[in-house]
Amino acid sequence: MKIAVLPGDGIGTEIVAEAVKVLDVLDLKFEMESALVGGAAYEAHGHPLPESTLKLAKEADAVLFGAVGDWKYDKLDRPLRPEQAILGLRKNLGLFANFRPAICYEELVGASSLKPELIAGLDILIIRELTGDIYFGQPRGRRVATDGHFPGAEEAFDTMRYSRPEIERIARVAFEAARKRSKRVTSVDKNNVLETSQLWKDVMLDIAKEYPDVELDHMLVDNAAMQLVKAPKKFDVVVTGNMFGDILSDEAAMLTGSIGMLPSASLNSSNQGLYEPSHGSAPDIAGKGVANPLATILSAAMMLRFSLNQPEAADRIESAVKAVLASGLRTGDIWSEGTKRVGTREMGDAVVAAITKKTITG
Ligand code: NAD
Repeated sequence: MKIAVLPGDGIGTEIVAEAVKVLDVLDLKFEMESALVGGAAYEAHGHPLPESTLKLAKEADAVLFGAVGDWKYDKLDRPLRPEQAILGLRKNLGLFANFRPAICYEELVGASSLKPELIAGLDILIIRELTGDIYFGQPRGRRVATDGHFPGAEEAFDTMRYSRPEIERIARVAFEAARKRSKRVTSVDKNNVLETSQLWKDVMLDIAKEYPDVELDHMLVDNAAMQLVKAPKKFDVVVTGNMFGDILSDEAAMLTGSIGMLPSASLNSSNQGLYEPSHGSAPDIAGKGVANPLATILSAAMMLRFSLNQPEAADRIESAVKAVLASGLRTGDIWSEGTKRVGTREMGDAVVAAITKKTITG
């Protein structure tokens, strides 16, 4: 088993180091090889996703990714910006299925901006289609308008498109995931306005026939955004397209109080995957040793479960994270009165200690 380790920029290097430390104590046989990605790769090689990094990612069974980006790269041409590395990896590895669990840990109920009764026990899974939709649809660009409200004016355009097979494969991923949970799928679209969404809904209904044991319902994206803050526990598995999923999964993430807690997995059809925290490179706190490494550590657990076929090791990490939270240790983003504030490294050390069953001092 080979893991490509791509820490990236900002807090990426700090949080990935903690996840690697946790993987190291599991006594599993895998090879880890690191490479530059994002702004760090641009500085060293002139490109955010150098050929050598892409080759390493393609050859690996899984990619453990930190985060990329910094405001200082905002003036670069779009293809050279750090964030392009993520799009390039998704496209080249065919990572079409993005899993974003939003779990509210009992100990962190107070960190949410919602009332505790709305959020306690929350455990939802957002499945976002990742390689289609308006983010990749061609044609796109800028031109002089020949029609519309302002002919002759500069305009920009993107293309929202989905093919039937693209929707079929993400639908099956969602139904299969629901079978392992509470057997309910909510498909989110905007079929009252968009052709792509009407096809999305038609295909969901077709694939649902293969899964008579799973209940399917549909929701318009604007309503889904409201329901996520009104009654989030109504949801279990949510499946949606690339753009709606981008927005809803961040909304769901924040329900739980801190983006620093939320892992994600992006998989292709051979279960090769890229695992990363749901947050970005947090330039505002980079280098200060205060970032929460738990989202990345939990992403490593997802990697063990989905791509490396090591479910017991994944369980060990997840139980260790729960034990550390129960012991009262908190990074700044999840700190509250009565708990002990720790830094990135101490949090990683505590997870290692919980795995190796050393005493955790809260
Ligand atoms: P961000 O997620 O980096 O940060 C948002 C806020 O959350 C900041 O206040 C940050 O300090 C805090 N935060 C994030 N992760 C944290 C952690 N682990 N522990 C504690 N606090 C944490 O989003 P942003 O500020 O909008 O973007 C910063 C950069 O990251 C931009 O260049 C953006 O393009 C990039 N970005 C990258 C990815 C990715 O690599 N997948 C995703 C989103 C944004």
